[in-house]
Amino acid sequence: MFKLPKLPYSFDTLEPYIDARTMQIHHDKHHQTYVDKLNAACANDASLAGKTIEEILSDPANINGDIRTAIINNGGGHLNHSFFWKIMSPNSPFNPKSNVGKEIINTFGNFESFKEKFSNTAVGRFGSGWAWLVVNKGRLEIVDTQNQNTPISIGMNPILCLDVWEHAYYLKYQNKRADYVNAWWNVVNWKKVEENFSEAIAQ
Ligand code: MN
Repeated sequence: MFKLPKLPYSFDTLEPYIDARTMQIHHDKHHQTYVDKLNAACANDASLAGKTIEEILSDPANINGDIRTAIINNGGGHLNHSFFWKIMSPNSPFNPKSNVGKEIINTFGNFESFKEKFSNTAVGRFGSGWAWLVVNKGRLEIVDTQNQNTPISIGMNPILCLDVWEHAYYLKYQNKRADYVNAWWNVVNWKKVEENFSEAIAQ
């Protein structure tokens, strides 16, 4: 059985950039629903027993066709949100001297260019989905996915992500996704991104 992870901080920790009410509904209602539906989909498939959600979603073609879509949607929802909560923090700023900081500058020219490219990807994602910074074959790349699809399913290693489903921002920002994306940069947990980067390049 998969379980809803506890938030690593309180609902109001990311205020004013992400409001407490949004965090509460997003975590306690939306994420919980993905976990519940994932467990329901897995319940009658013994081949999934004991596997992590990363293992299952790293090879979606191997999932039983009757439940594949349900697992991709709800397992992806569980995996992506579990990852998303951990890459946010109110006081972990970008460090250009960190390993990931140096690699971002090396890849995108400077931090502002990286931010602009990532923001444009997040704002430009049509409909519901995610923007990602991934390690792909040893190189940093910015990609987006639709719905709850995870880059793990196409062999990429995510190190940073942004949820651009309307449920992530609508209460505070309504139709203004760009304002949400802009505010979110204030709460990126760059210490955690550094850890994710170290793990990704070691694989
Ligand atoms: Mn979400």
